Amino acid sequence: MDSTAATEARRPEELVGRGTREGARLFRDWFLRLGAAPERGERAAYVFVMGSMAELLRVFDLHMVFPEITSLQTAVRRVAHEYLAEAEGYGYSPDVCGYVKADVALQLRGGDHPMGRIPPPALAVVTNACSTYIKWAEIWERLYRIPVFTLDVPQSRSARHRDGAGAGDFERDRRYVERQIRELIVLCEGVTGRRFDVDRLREVLSLTNEMSASWRRVLELNRGAPSPYNALVEGTVYLGVLNTLRGTEEGAGYFRDLVQELEYKAAQGIGALAEEKYRLIFVGVPCYPIFRRFAELFSEWGGNFVASSYLWFAAGGLNQGTEYDVDRPLESLAEGVLRSVRAATDAMFFHDRALLEAASDYAADGVVYHPIKSCRTVSTGLADSRMALMRSCDVASLYIESDMMDRRVVSEAQLKNRIDAFFEGLASRKLRGAAASVAAQPPAGASSREQAAKAGGEGTADTGEPQDEGTAARGRARGLGDGRRGS
Ligand code: SF4
Repeated sequence: MDSTAATEARRPEELVGRGTREGARLFRDWFLRLGAAPERGERAAYVFVMGSMAELLRVFDLHMVFPEITSLQTAVRRVAHEYLAEAEGYGYSPDVCGYVKADVALQLRGGDHPMGRIPPPALAVVTNACSTYIKWAEIWERLYRIPVFTLDVPQSRSARHRDGAGAGDFERDRRYVERQIRELIVLCEGVTGRRFDVDRLREVLSLTNEMSASWRRVLELNRGAPSPYNALVEGTVYLGVLNTLRGTEEGAGYFRDLVQELEYKAAQGIGALAEEKYRLIFVGVPCYPIFRRFAELFSEWGGNFVASSYLWFAAGGLNQGTEYDVDRPLESLAEGVLRSVRAATDAMFFHDRALLEAASDYAADGVVYHPIKSCRTVSTGLADSRMALMRSCDVASLYIESDMMDRRVVSEAQLKNRIDAFFEGLASRKLRGAAASVAAQPPAGASSREQAAKAGGEGTADTGEPQDEGTAARGRARGLGDGRRGS
């Protein structure tokens, strides 16, 4: 049965929302498997979303614990403050990354987590995508006396640094990463007592390729209006599955189904909101202590997050369309890691051009910057990035600060004030835009030649064709507007 027939065979109520329901189920199963691992004599590696090395670790049948994900789940389940207080009582400063502190408390509690029990690590694999990763892994090294493997991935040298396969410094960097991967294989063989199986690696890489293609499609489908999902709400669920089930049959199947659901919604005009009035881009990490409420502060105004930088930098490079060459698996894995970690850090440090393109591609009305106290890596430079965006295009922006873990620095009332003012500004902006469109209409009875001359004469569209909302936004993002607004 082809995918269209399969879609028709399902009742819409089964299809719509399936990605969120299934994502939650798969997530619970993941926690259950982690909890059962020690009894089964299975071992776990602690890894991070930016450069998880999932494909290689799966070859050795190691479970992967993502401490960023287990930590954020304590905030979603509204108990993060207990974990943070315990770590601070132990001696960690309030300024330390909240994910680290929640994890420290989790380790002190013997892995006790609101969704299950997290097994201790047999080894940890980190990259230099965030310097906190390296210090964080040293905590496990001290607690468990485990080997820690730090993969040093050469980063982009500047915002303009672009290199491709075959280019001089790219090839040198790739070989440097490949040599480290070969060392990691030896370490995994020592930890697990298993021989490396290159054919198994090929299988895993193929499954990641499938997930990568699906993820690109998922991101692309939200360009249409109305967008079929909210990149902050449903997008975060999808992202969790992308990371935890990377390189698995389960993960590839989930994303096949998700694409089917979202294509169906797009074809039927079913959006994430009943009425999508404003299309927004989110920059940063979500506010997990009030995750649902935070999104509602926008959706109550008809604001939908159609894109999010979180779905780029925390996607392990899959937003880049990673496609491994299974005929040269280790070389290709090295290339993929190099590109993905670079893409992740570029999406944080050099994202102004990516945002400019996204504002155009997604026909965005506004960009919401969300710097957080706990994470300097993601938040540093956001104010400068916003200034750069405002200099380049006439899209509205909002800059609101809170945290992804620590409810002591999340003030819902203050957030609401700022967000309400932002939407009032957006509403009057829309009204002005509509009034300008009416003023630009030719008088009734004007000839088509006069209409074309008027459209061309005002220089709003090279083709002289009337602009729709999307075209107008794309025009703004190309810098045709001169307004510079923010809230
Ligand atoms: S500082 Fe930010 S990027 Fe680094 S581990 Fe903490 S939350 Fe993650």
